[in-house]
Amino acid sequence: MYSENEFDIMITVLSGGTGTPKLLQGLKEIVDPSELTIIVNTLENDYFSGVYVSADIDTVLYTMTGMINDEFWYGVKGDTFITHERLEEIGCPELLRIGDIDRATKIQKTQLMKEYGLTKAVEIQAEKMGIVSKIIPMSDENSDIKIITDIGELEFHDFLIKYQSQPEVLDVKFSNVSPAPGVVESIKKSDAVIIGPSNPITSISPILSLDGVKDALKDTYVVAVSPIIGNDSVSGPASKFMKALGIEVSSVGVASLYEDFLDNFIIDNKDDDKKQQINQIVNKVTVTNTIMNNLGAKKNLAQIIMGSIL
Ligand code: GDP
Repeated sequence: MYSENEFDIMITVLSGGTGTPKLLQGLKEIVDPSELTIIVNTLENDYFSGVYVSADIDTVLYTMTGMINDEFWYGVKGDTFITHERLEEIGCPELLRIGDIDRATKIQKTQLMKEYGLTKAVEIQAEKMGIVSKIIPMSDENSDIKIITDIGELEFHDFLIKYQSQPEVLDVKFSNVSPAPGVVESIKKSDAVIIGPSNPITSISPILSLDGVKDALKDTYVVAVSPIIGNDSVSGPASKFMKALGIEVSSVGVASLYEDFLDNFIIDNKDDDKKQQINQIVNKVTVTNTIMNNLGAKKNLAQIIMGSIL
């Protein structure tokens, strides 16, 4: 657990729901959590089984409290599925497997949103969970995302869960939404922004496409970690999405997406041979182990990032 304030600066992190939360587990050990703001993707948010599901936000909430099921990077560790199983028994199967404790979070958020909207609802939930970091949804508005595949146009969760990301992806389309209050402001007042190793197409690009975000990033020190190692993502469909959009599936391709504002790009040891090429795109390239398969690796990566900021 973080004890002394090793790094006393304001940091904003841009996050999806798997790669960046892994980094947050390391970061929160070495940075004063009250100086962290986490802007979270909302592209895939929607209503399921009568509750609002903001999977990435809930993953970040659970990561910051230590409740996260970090085997699947979804839901609460040790959760039960009594309601989910009963719904199936009575002929009402759910597309998403929502655990009982996780469902309570989602019911509360749905209720709070009716009165306050998403940003305030998340702020209240974070406070109730004892989280001192600021967690901001990228937008209060719902996005419309469609995955265009060889078997037709699919809803994001159908592509991911029903079809297990198997169809060939031809295009990814999402609507533009407005930034939530605090998104641009927090980037502007931060000493540095960390773009975690999250899906560059469906987690980070939606945040970058918000009005004012890219301009704010140009005026801030930005360090990013590549979610692509070699010619594939560490997990999930990022490489399929990049390929569909004509972006090289490699750390070089990710660097080109962040080119306009990136100051330091962290790539994996396995991509050492790409360093020179990426140096044409980004001034500083750091080569290290970026596979975060244990707390030590997560903390090491967090230390390297923070060391580059100071
Ligand atoms: P999602 O919201 O569940 O899609 O999750 P994110 O967008 O946050 O993260 C997905 C991305 O994280 C994928 O592109 C993975 O390649 C990347 N990722 C997951 N684990 C690691 C890791 O240990 N190291 C690195 N470098 N990338 C990772």
